[in-house]
Amino acid sequence: MNRRSVLAAGAVAVGVVGGAAAVRSVGESTGPGSPEPHPEMDVETRPIMQGTDRETPVYELRAPESGPTAMVFGGVHGDEVNGYRAAEEVIGWRIEAGTLVVVPWAEIVAVERDSRHGPDGDLNRTFPSGEAPTTELSRELWAAVEEYDPDVVLDLHRSRGIYDTHHRWVGQAIFPTGAGDAVADARAVIEHMNAERVPRVMVPHRFTLGNTLTGANPLLIHKVGGDLGRPGFLVELTDFLLDPGTQTRWTVEMTELLLERNGIVRVE
Ligand SMILES: [Zn+2]
Repeated sequence: MNRRSVLAAGAVAVGVVGGAAAVRSVGESTGPGSPEPHPEMDVETRPIMQGTDRETPVYELRAPESGPTAMVFGGVHGDEVNGYRAAEEVIGWRIEAGTLVVVPWAEIVAVERDSRHGPDGDLNRTFPSGEAPTTELSRELWAAVEEYDPDVVLDLHRSRGIYDTHHRWVGQAIFPTGAGDAVADARAVIEHMNAERVPRVMVPHRFTLGNTLTGANPLLIHKVGGDLGRPGFLVELTDFLLDPGTQTRWTVEMTELLLERNGIVRVE
């Protein structure tokens, strides 16, 4: 069964008709790695770009207690596997307070093609600050951001090379917005990863702090900084001499630490 028929079957099973935005409990696979929500969590999905070949789910994990809202994006670039695998893991978390909104496969056509770009090119160049996003997909994604009004936003990526080492590549870095404690949070997580995770011999792989994202470029987290003025983090791993499993594990750990510092705490 392909993805679209799974989505269609899921929609039919709960009797959603007439094109209304479907909100349903997660009971079956909805995309690439078929993430399983935690059995004790109340999780629903709703579609972005419903009824098109770009249709992709937004997972909403609501904790029993009120708290901040966080959004986590993966698959903005379809070949950055660590980003969407990490987002899929987050879907399986249990949290006790707040709301965790995960868009694991933002550009699902690109994810399925294992290509950086989707049919409209580079999704992460379609979010200009101070004006509407420039594609239908980016407008729907941004509409979800505005609707959830998150306290913090993460966008998970991977680059070929390493920031400050390889010309124009940006791996092994966190790029924060300038809002709240975002810069300090990024710095703390970087220090943790370098002290606890990056082997001493892997000097180039030590994480660094990227520039502050304030809306100067049409990237999703730039727009979070420029238009929302909220903490946001563009997390970049590297494909350079770092195996895919480690890329994903480190992405998950940095996501967990950044969310924890912003009031969304994973419970084991
Ligand atoms: Zn990327």
